[in-house]
Amino acid sequence: MEYTSSMAVETLQISDKDVNKYINERIGSNACPCGSGEFELIIDSEATPSVMTMKDVRDEFNEHWFFWQACNHCSQSKMIAASRVWAWIKEQNSKNVD
Ligand SMILES: [Zn+2]
Repeated sequence: MEYTSSMAVETLQISDKDVNKYINERIGSNACPCGSGEFELIIDSEATPSVMTMKDVRDEFNEHWFFWQACNHCSQSKMIAASRVWAWIKEQNSKNVD
């Protein structure tokens, strides 16, 4: 995966629609293993997909970004690597240009 300086800015512009499209295509079912609910994308107060970060313990200057889902029944949560969603959107956009 090629990282660019605009990656962070572009990742923050990804809509809930785009993340859900990625999830539907790459993951498919949103069924939770609890059997009573479904994973739903978490939306922040700005009505955009919430992005959480995790610091890389081996590199204090590196941070991993994730969109995340929580089950609407048991609250079990799942993280979606934001860089993969970003790369997938780039790939989709390049297909549309051809
Ligand atoms: Zn659940």
